[in-house]
Amino acid sequence: MQKLQNYINGELVPPVSGQYIDNYDPAIGEVYSLIPDSGEADVAQAVEAAQAAFEGWANTPAEQRSRIMLRVSELIEQNLDRLAKAESVDNGKPVSLATKVDIPRAAKNFRFYATALVHFASEAHAMENSAINYTLRHPLGVVGCISPWNLPLYLFTWKIAPAIAAGNCVVAKPSEITPMTAYLLSEICQQAGLPKGVLNIIHGYGGSAGSAIVNHPKVKAISFTGGTKTGELIAREAAPKFKKLSLELGGKNPNIIFADCNYEEMMETTLRSSFANQGQICLCGSRVFVERPLYEKFKTDFVQRVNEMIIGDPEAATTRIGAVVSEPHMNKVLSYIELAQQEGGTILTGGNRRKLSGRCENGYFIEPTVIEGLSYDCRTNQEEIFGPVVTIMPFDTEEEVLKYANSVQYGLSSTLWTENLSRATRMAHQIEAGIVWVNCWLLRDLRTPFGGVKASGVGREGGFDALEFFTEPKNVCIKMY
Ligand code: NDP
Repeated sequence: MQKLQNYINGELVPPVSGQYIDNYDPAIGEVYSLIPDSGEADVAQAVEAAQAAFEGWANTPAEQRSRIMLRVSELIEQNLDRLAKAESVDNGKPVSLATKVDIPRAAKNFRFYATALVHFASEAHAMENSAINYTLRHPLGVVGCISPWNLPLYLFTWKIAPAIAAGNCVVAKPSEITPMTAYLLSEICQQAGLPKGVLNIIHGYGGSAGSAIVNHPKVKAISFTGGTKTGELIAREAAPKFKKLSLELGGKNPNIIFADCNYEEMMETTLRSSFANQGQICLCGSRVFVERPLYEKFKTDFVQRVNEMIIGDPEAATTRIGAVVSEPHMNKVLSYIELAQQEGGTILTGGNRRKLSGRCENGYFIEPTVIEGLSYDCRTNQEEIFGPVVTIMPFDTEEEVLKYANSVQYGLSSTLWTENLSRATRMAHQIEAGIVWVNCWLLRDLRTPFGGVKASGVGREGGFDALEFFTEPKNVCIKMY
């Protein structure tokens, strides 16, 4: 069975403990590889390597750093099929999705920051004939990047690329549930000629390997994407040590549909925003609010279209719904479906584990599920489920739906469907979310600030925001007269 290795100081090395963790293929429910069970000792080695590489990397001319990062991007593209297959096996997502979305985006993350770094300029502020200020931006040193399992290489590279573009050296940990493409990235970085120690990848559990990164005194900043509870724990550990923190956390996003929307486009996109990646995208719209005159028609058509979605082997080109990521996660999602019924919800379609035949008979598949009849403030509508489950609810007025939309502790993204421009701008202004999509979903321009409000996070990723996060400003004031 394949044993993954940590990537420290440019080398692939076994964990100090000699212990490995089982890695499952969720579509077949079997262990297919082993990953290092790393801890403090491995993280200490990685931090040491990163620290040793820092001065050299920070002083490497921007153009040369850019060239190496572009090479990483090209190699990701050249390995598209292999990486997409690996992502699908590790995570359960359809290989078609990984080929179209996850892996191209990982390549794009490196390409975007390879070019952004050469355009990142410092600011200057003149003081009415008396002085001039200029602001230097220094890389921080060694930084930690910790990412989740839902979009493994996509989110891993979204953190690593700006960190190293800004001149830092990184100790990164992918989710222990989906480590494979991060491991393959180690090989790509070796081939691309990334200097040793610039990127170090440690595999293992959050509570040991992740926590060791967060608590290491030489790690100056933590960029974390994952659950709100974990984010809170990390903030509690990192804040007294005065580390910079970027937290991208959970969501419970509203999808608000007005009767005047472009119906076909809304329907097609709502199927994706509800069930893409088995609903395991932090940006999925899990609470669907429909203006009352459209409600019955929407309900009938939506349920029919959901019933047409093919649940199947992630390797099959026709599969729209693959496996959820793990058995515990499947059980968590199913327990929420149970809760929804206890809370008075009616299941319009789905609601069960789907048993497939053949290769995937023991896989973790859940039917795409649509629930109605719940109040906006019940637990099902307040807590993040993070699976192929949406609730639908009618509304009458803008004021009412804003109240529903903003009632949750989260505020990551939101979607609005209306042809009325005044209403769209009015609503966009009042929705409590870091991102508002109007008549679209997941349309991403990597230059824009990405992140959430309330319990969905602290700080923004994307564009120059990420380069600012990964640098420390130093203002120099020169008196002129
Ligand atoms: P978790 O919070 O469980 O884990 C995220 C990462 O943190 C994993 O690598 C995990 O390791 C690690 N970790 C866990 N505990 C600690 C700790 N004490 N110290 C340091 N690291 C730790 O999230 P999931 O992987 O379950 O991902 C799903 C969540 O991520 C959802 O809530 C989703 O909304 C959110 N998310 C947010 C996004 C955003 O942009 N806002 C985007 C994508 C997902 P291990 O796997 O070993 O536990």
